[in-house]
Amino acid sequence: MWPRNGCKKSTTANPRPPLVESSLFVIRYAELALKGGNRHWFEKTLASNLRDHLKNANLTHQVTRRHGRMLVRVEGEADLAIEVLKHIPGIHNFSLASLSDWDLKNQTTLGIELVQQALGGSGEPLTFKVEARRTDKRFPRKSFELAAQLGGHILERFPQLQAKMTAPDLSLGIEIWEQNQAILYLEKIPGQGGLPVGTAGTVISFLSGGIDSPVSSWMMLKRGCKIIYLTFHSFPFTPEESKQKVIDLVERLSRYQPKSILLVVPFAEIQKEIQQKALEKNRTLLYRRMMFRIAERLKETYKVKAYITGEALGQVASQTLENLACTQDAASLPVLRPLVGMDKSEIIEWAKRIGTYNLSIQPFDDCCTVFQPKKPETHGRIEGLRADHALLDEDRLIDQALQGAETYQFFSSIKAKLWG
Ligand code: ATP
Ligand code: MG
Repeated sequence: MWPRNGCKKSTTANPRPPLVESSLFVIRYAELALKGGNRHWFEKTLASNLRDHLKNANLTHQVTRRHGRMLVRVEGEADLAIEVLKHIPGIHNFSLASLSDWDLKNQTTLGIELVQQALGGSGEPLTFKVEARRTDKRFPRKSFELAAQLGGHILERFPQLQAKMTAPDLSLGIEIWEQNQAILYLEKIPGQGGLPVGTAGTVISFLSGGIDSPVSSWMMLKRGCKIIYLTFHSFPFTPEESKQKVIDLVERLSRYQPKSILLVVPFAEIQKEIQQKALEKNRTLLYRRMMFRIAERLKETYKVKAYITGEALGQVASQTLENLACTQDAASLPVLRPLVGMDKSEIIEWAKRIGTYNLSIQPFDDCCTVFQPKKPETHGRIEGLRADHALLDEDRLIDQALQGAETYQFFSSIKAKLWG
């Protein structure tokens, strides 16, 4: 990683208050640029999410919009701010930037300083280029001219560098802004991409402790959905640890949205009644139908527009096209399955990348394992499922379950990544 400005810690024993150093980040959000009329709303939401995430990390900050970019000034730990920014959907990439002006001499001095930091005194040969961009066309030189001139001065100063326009080892970026301002930066740190959370409306995500549903939740966060997490547990048939596992998963996912809500609903009584009244082979499908029914009761309160599950076609016997139709029949809102066409190995890759895999593989049973049929239905028929479903005292069961529901709130925290 390149050295960063503004992240040094004072080691003096002097009782004076420590100097708070500030860092400037320039945030780029490619996809938003395509959104035409919605652009203002997307930018406003991203700015608000940035503020909330930085506030949750106790970082004093200032967010402004400039030239199709977002500028964030942060006081305190730059490394912490970088971790926060890396996890915010809607950010394509970002850089730790240094301010300069339109004067080539000043730009060269700053450029040399940054390159010097990056090289760290090493004389090893490296390839190098300057990437220039003008947002103010009144600046008298074209981007390529500026890149050539600034690049020339830097190459003169560092004989170990050799110009290379594609995939160089080191690149220095410069953007010319209006009012005699310019920024220089070394690195474009990749963000999550996608759209800011909150721009696509609110959804309920059915979250088990498995590998799949945390990934499907993250995929929809990245498409701009605000997520309410809903989980069912079957205590005393399943251990307390399975509930804790889901709480830990939401805590991990909470770094992607400023505020997360998890509803934990007891499911054992419902499962007992299903066991007593319905055909054995239909149990799993009825569990799913009742999960949707409970969500139906919550949809108004949270202004929910869709449901999310971690189902993938054919992954297990319950996830055939016929069975997906049988369970979805109990829901009045669209059921989105972002993983539907993915292989398990691909899902596992994502789970590792988003940091949920190690939590998901802890061996605590999910409620679906309770009273599992010996031969579960693989090609359910909607009429048969509806008939079995009608045998349940649905309203009473749901009232009872919701009375026992617990609500947890999470505010984005990335501490686990840095120090956990
Ligand atoms: P996962 O890895 O997400 O558990 P899975 O491949 O194990 O998925 P199932 O156990 O059949 O598949 O569950 C399918 C989907 O049903 C899950 O992805 C999740 O969206 C939902 N689901 C299952 N169990 C629960 C639960 N206890 N609470 C909430 N949703 C659940
Ligand atoms: Mg599961």
